[in-house]
Amino acid sequence: MRVTVDRQRCIGSGMCVITADEVFAQRDEDGTVRLLTAEVADELRDRVRQAAHLCPSRAITVSAGPEVER
Ligand code: SF4
Repeated sequence: MRVTVDRQRCIGSGMCVITADEVFAQRDEDGTVRLLTAEVADELRDRVRQAAHLCPSRAITVSAGPEVER
């Protein structure tokens, strides 16, 4: 699974960091999201999906690939 973030949409709420701090961080400068990795490890998938769901500005997108999700 891959994850991308749109920092232009991010309002710096920090929900993603609370939910999956292995994948998301916040920039020191302005508190907007910083992606630590684009490839999500299997054991983190559920939490990354939850982070995308919880993001108040819909700034997180998850997608399959490069492997096919089952
Ligand atoms: S949850 Fe969304 S709005 Fe909040 S810091 Fe993460 S990407 Fe930004």
